[in-house]
Amino acid sequence: MTMYITPQDELHVEYQGIALTCPHCQAVSHLTPVAVPRFDELSSRKPKHIGIVFRCDACGEPIFLKFGVKAYTALRVELATNYAEIERARENFPLTYLPQEAEALFKEALSCYAASCFNAFGSMSRRTAQSLFRDLGERGKLQLFDTLQEIRVLAELDDDTFATLRAVLFGSDADPWPHQPDLNARDAGILLEVMRDLLYQTFVRKARLMQAVTFRKFVAPSNAEVG
Ligand SMILES: [Zn+2]
Repeated sequence: MTMYITPQDELHVEYQGIALTCPHCQAVSHLTPVAVPRFDELSSRKPKHIGIVFRCDACGEPIFLKFGVKAYTALRVELATNYAEIERARENFPLTYLPQEAEALFKEALSCYAASCFNAFGSMSRRTAQSLFRDLGERGKLQLFDTLQEIRVLAELDDDTFATLRAVLFGSDADPWPHQPDLNARDAGILLEVMRDLLYQTFVRKARLMQAVTFRKFVAPSNAEVG
């Protein structure tokens, strides 16, 4: 994909344009540029990065993206095709089933992830796990570890990734320094999916089953009524 700004101040994007998950309406939507920096000004100042405001085609709200500049030529300001999202879509997650303390901690973890602070996300995920271990006891901790092992097999995680996840969630703050591995965007993305599945298996699934069972007990006709 080639992207550049023309001397007529128009943003030219080849192929299908830019699509991403809108931080306002959560839809995967195409973006239309609404405010592109002026070619003349860019050419005279030659900044390394430029910002462009787009409109989400689904909801019309503004989305700001930052691009690196690859080259300044007489006919175009050529942009790098990867961009930084200033506001990322928040992850949707049914948090209300979690114990109160874990809910508060994991909410903050999700905010870190949305802000692309991946190591902060890792640290808050560990605090969430620590809070759960305290709530669930040693047996609960072992069950969580079993669930992590299941996820490893199901998602076909490689050994390095699994070791990273295990160190983040099950490592101890008393381990030798550094007691937490550094997380990049990819690690954090996988950790997010694992946390989602781990919490879903442990709390959401159980809570929904309990609700369904209670509902069935309540609405099922007794034998006497049927007969
Ligand atoms: Zn939108």
